[in-house]
Amino acid sequence: MYNTVMQQFTKTADAIKLDPEIRKILEATTNEIVVHFPVKLDSGKIKIFTGYRVQHNNVLGPYKEGLRYHPSLNIGDAKALAMWMTWKTSLAGLPYGGAKGGIQLDPREYSLSELERITRRFTYALGDNIGPEYDIPAPDVNTNEQTMAWISDTYMSAKPSSERSRNKHIVTGKPVGSGGLEGRDRSTGFGVFLNIKLWYESQNENLDGKTFIVQGFGNVGYWTSYFLSKEGAILIGVQDTHATLYNKNGIDVANLHNHCKPRKGSIKGYADAREITSEEFFGLECNILIPAAMGNQITCDNAHKIKAELIAEGANGPTDFEGESILLDRKITIIPDILCNSGGVIGSYFEWLQNRNGEIWHLEEVMLKLEKKMIEVFKKTELIVKENHIDWRSAAYIMAITRIETVYRQRGIFP
Ligand code: NAD
Repeated sequence: MYNTVMQQFTKTADAIKLDPEIRKILEATTNEIVVHFPVKLDSGKIKIFTGYRVQHNNVLGPYKEGLRYHPSLNIGDAKALAMWMTWKTSLAGLPYGGAKGGIQLDPREYSLSELERITRRFTYALGDNIGPEYDIPAPDVNTNEQTMAWISDTYMSAKPSSERSRNKHIVTGKPVGSGGLEGRDRSTGFGVFLNIKLWYESQNENLDGKTFIVQGFGNVGYWTSYFLSKEGAILIGVQDTHATLYNKNGIDVANLHNHCKPRKGSIKGYADAREITSEEFFGLECNILIPAAMGNQITCDNAHKIKAELIAEGANGPTDFEGESILLDRKITIIPDILCNSGGVIGSYFEWLQNRNGEIWHLEEVMLKLEKKMIEVFKKTELIVKENHIDWRSAAYIMAITRIETVYRQRGIFP
């Protein structure tokens, strides 16, 4: 993923003739924090875990976003994901920089109480490397509102009593009732759906009867499917870590979601679809492909098989540089991650504002604000696509990096 983000950055920096001095700054990550911390497991044994927090750039505001729990997470991934966050927050016009991190572990191997102790000890180990006006984590792969509740409680408990409530915005994506935002759970999926809808509208088409396949049926995959199916699009293929399902007549999103709930989120065993091999997934005949799982899923090995006309990147970094070039040659449109899944960080921004101002926003208000913001970013990017006859990722990167370059030029470099 790190190679991918650097190749994307270099392409844009060359295209816009980015100031070489600013280029040096943006190529580097500001802070790379690695912590090794002990946790007592249910067996009574101690295990040492490794956690990461990479802070790429904060020229536009505090470092922001996800913590993921995954066995493959390493410093290179965290650097790439942090850099994507810098571009994403810049593109969305938010007052944030970019960060990412997490713990290298497979959460399925631990009990809930072990996960709570791991999360709290990780928060303690990060200490003041995070902070509500400095670096504000949020959920990502295998972390959720419960994880955020543990982090905020641990962080606030370490502060003097008189300061605790002033630190509520240490994380976003908290449960509603613990300072969370109504609608933050669906904000990423809603944004992915809206980008797809707007793209079809720009082609004078609508979603009714369009078929889609989705890789990953977690937070992003489920909510995207939910909103798409409400507008008449038909889910025909879905893949997660455990299985790949196909039904050319359509898979009912609500039924599949209910099937997953008691099975730790797994789609395996769903009766109203046929299980196919994982290799068949990307080659399925459909209108829209939504990668909503991990990075580097679409590469030169499978890009030539893809039949979709539109790829909407719910996941971060799902398409590598070579894969993308094959897709663009084949005239397949890609709505890039930094635009497509930015509903999540926009929702996070709303939650942060709500906590900072001691306000409570209602769901309808949140969804309206989110929609307005996403339409604005989509339209601005579309204008660059049309004016310059370029692909959507190039346009989004140009907007994001130009904004940061402008700020560096205005402020200069200290001292
Ligand atoms: P999640 O943990 O809720 O769900 C992940 C899903 O992906 C699960 O269904 C899992 O089984 C599946 N999966 C994992 N590895 C897979 C593989 N190799 N092949 C097929 N399926 C696989 O995670 P999420 O929050 O939905 O995040 C999904 C992606 O979206 C990530 O790339 C994340 O960085 C990105 N994202 C998430 C948010 C957010 O608000 N949660 C915001 C922006 C971007």
